[in-house]
Amino acid sequence: MRRLFVITMVLLFGLAFVGLGGQGIVQARTTFITIGTGGITGVYYPTGGAIAKMVNKKRSIYHIRATVESTGGSVFNINAVLSGDLDFGICQSDRQYQAWHGLAEWKNKGPQKDLRALFSIHPESVTLVAADDAGIKTIQDLRGKRVNIGNPGSGQRQNSIDALSNAGLDYRKDIIAEGVKAPEAPGLLQDGRIDAFFYTVGHPSGAIKEATAGKRKVHFVPITGLDRLLAKYPYYARAYIPIKFYPSATNKKDVPTFGVKATFVTSAKTPDKVVYAIVKEVFDNFEAFKKLHPAYSVLTKKSMLEGLTAPLHPGALKYFREVGLLK
Ligand code: GLU
Repeated sequence: MRRLFVITMVLLFGLAFVGLGGQGIVQARTTFITIGTGGITGVYYPTGGAIAKMVNKKRSIYHIRATVESTGGSVFNINAVLSGDLDFGICQSDRQYQAWHGLAEWKNKGPQKDLRALFSIHPESVTLVAADDAGIKTIQDLRGKRVNIGNPGSGQRQNSIDALSNAGLDYRKDIIAEGVKAPEAPGLLQDGRIDAFFYTVGHPSGAIKEATAGKRKVHFVPITGLDRLLAKYPYYARAYIPIKFYPSATNKKDVPTFGVKATFVTSAKTPDKVVYAIVKEVFDNFEAFKKLHPAYSVLTKKSMLEGLTAPLHPGALKYFREVGLLK
C-alpha cells in the first residue's frame, strides 16, 4: 500500500512537471510560415529557400519555421498572400505596382490595399529565348510562330504581352500563344513543340540553362526599340541578359532587353514580429545572404529598398529605422 502511494506521488509530480514543461512549450509555440515562390528552375524558388534559411537558423530565438512552396509565380503569390493561403510571396515589382493600384489582373478587383512590402531582391530581365532554326532574329520575327508567353498567374505573361505589343504584335492574333508554366518551356523548345518562349527571371536560372544546353541550338532575342514602352510604364527599366551565365547559347555578347525587380511581400495582417525577424535576419547577415545565389551579387542594402510600391510593413519599417536605413 505504502509502495503504491509512493509510486502514485512520483507519477503525480511527474505529471505536474510535464504539465509545466508543456506550458513552457505553449508559450514558445512555433509559428509556421509559408513563402510562395515560382517554378523550381527559376530564381524565386531558391530565393524563398535563402530567406527561409536565414530565419530558420534562429529558430530557438524567433520560434519561426519557414517553408517554401513552388507556385505559378507573381500574380498567384500576391493573390495567395492576400487571401491568407500564403504568408509571404515573391513577386515582380511591376506586379506589385499593378496590384496596389488595381491594374492588369486586378482591374476588376480594384486596388489591393492589404498588400505590404518587405524589401526588393534581384533584378529580373524579360528573357526571350528562340531556337536558332526558327528564323527569329528580332521580336517582330515572332509573327506566326508558336511562343510560350507564360501561364496565367505568372509575372512574365503581362511582360510578354507588353513586349509584343510594343513591337506591333497582338498576342491573340499575330502569334500562336502558349500559356504553360516556365519550367515546362525549355523542354517544349528542345522538342520542337514551340519556337520561342518568354521568361522574366533573374540570372543565372536553371530554366534558361536547361533551354540553352540542349541539342537544339538556341539564342536570346534582343528586345530593343523600348522608348515608347519605357515612357508608358513607370515600372520598366532597361536591362540585359549576362551571356557569361549561358555559354551554350549562340549569342556572343550580353543581350539588351527590359526588366523589373523581384520583391518580397506579405499582407497587412502578418504580425509585426514575424516580419521584423525575417528582415532582421536577411539584413543583419547580408553578406551571408548574398552568397546564397549568384543573382544577388549586385545587391546592396540600399538597393533592396527600391522598386517597392505597396507600403512597407510596420515590422520591416521598424528594422529599417533601427539600423538607420530609413528615417
Ligand atoms: N518572374 C517570374 C514570375 O513572376 C518568376 C521567376 C522566378 O521564379 O524566378 O512569375
